[in-house]
Amino acid sequence: MNVHDSERMLGVLRQAGYARVDDPLKADLIVFNTCGIREKAEQKFYSLLGRTKTMKRDNPGLKVAVAGCIAQQQGAGVKERAPYVDYVIGPQNIDRVGDALLGRKGIFTGDNPELAQKDLPAERDGYVKAWVNVMYGCNNFCSYCIVPYTRGRERSRPADNILSEIKGLAAEGFKEITLLGQNVNSYRGELSFPELLRFINDIEGIERIRFVTSHPKDLEEGLIMAMRDLEKVCEHIHLPIQSGSDRVLKHMNRKYTFDEYLRKTEWLRKAIPDIAITTDIIAGFPGETGDDHKATVSALKEIGFDGIYAFKYSIRPMTRAAEMDGHLPDEVKSERLLEILSLQDQITGARNKALQDTIQEVLVEGPSESDPEKMTGRTRTNKIVNILPSHHVVSGMLLKVRILKGQRHSLEGVAINGL
Ligand code: SF4
Repeated sequence: MNVHDSERMLGVLRQAGYARVDDPLKADLIVFNTCGIREKAEQKFYSLLGRTKTMKRDNPGLKVAVAGCIAQQQGAGVKERAPYVDYVIGPQNIDRVGDALLGRKGIFTGDNPELAQKDLPAERDGYVKAWVNVMYGCNNFCSYCIVPYTRGRERSRPADNILSEIKGLAAEGFKEITLLGQNVNSYRGELSFPELLRFINDIEGIERIRFVTSHPKDLEEGLIMAMRDLEKVCEHIHLPIQSGSDRVLKHMNRKYTFDEYLRKTEWLRKAIPDIAITTDIIAGFPGETGDDHKATVSALKEIGFDGIYAFKYSIRPMTRAAEMDGHLPDEVKSERLLEILSLQDQITGARNKALQDTIQEVLVEGPSESDPEKMTGRTRTNKIVNILPSHHVVSGMLLKVRILKGQRHSLEGVAINGL
């Protein structure tokens, strides 16, 4: 979501006459788009921000803007801590980045319901995959999460605006669309989310459709059937479980039990046998006992996720969990996280190994970061595939690839031919 907000701020700035530079020393404006989801990101941001103070001394015309969740959460506090900051722009006000630069210094963190109605330009990286917002904000108030406070209440974007943006992207040559929303299951436009998927599926030129994120409590039959029936909707779902313990899930205000979650994964796998399921886990939530942690470990074994994003619980101001009793020492959180990650490494490795000798459809994205001789892309199930050097493989191609090696974090394969 934040990366796409950056793309849209770049689009708005481009319209206002700015161009992007690679060297911050050449910039007239530096925008920090911050993430406040964990404490570590915040510390990193303030240390980077401090460097702009000396840059401003050498270049008095330089403007500094702080955007994103930290801007929203701390508002005037950002300027108190760093008075050299010119603009503070919350995620609901990214459309204001252009206005802010017309000379009005200030703090733009108010509620902005019009954002969902506007079509902001975006300057995207590459031309193969694009993110498209379908909704903003969240109403769920999970007890550990700051998103409802920083991005505001749920607002759906009109379906016509979404469809015309995607048609435009198809005309530009984009092949894959990822629909973004904190909880796409609660999309409420003129169409339901599964209906929206059906319309996108009919757009010529778009080859793949993905979406993030789906809240387990709201995952319903209509979406599963759309995933099964629509050929462009990829066989992957990110379904954050957060914990395997019902007691912890209740304290997190997640509104499902482990059994309910498990049943939904079984339902998904029955309808779409090749589906990859990935998830998020929080290790060491306040009050988590050794038994709660064991329940998470056994949930990982029982479900066999294709991949997880796991982090230590991190206190976020304003949230209910911050006020709860039973905050755990960092060593305990680290120990539990390590156990979760090493178990999942084995599970992911085994699932990837099971793909050896299969043929997968891969959308080529560009040269591999680790080995630029190879091209890299993803399967429909969102697994990274590094493709052995071959002259005819170029970005944007859909290929059949024979998987030669299934490793812990990626697959390696050889192109058979174009699809
Ligand atoms: S559903 Fe996601 S974004 Fe919304 S409060 Fe819960 S964790 Fe945060």
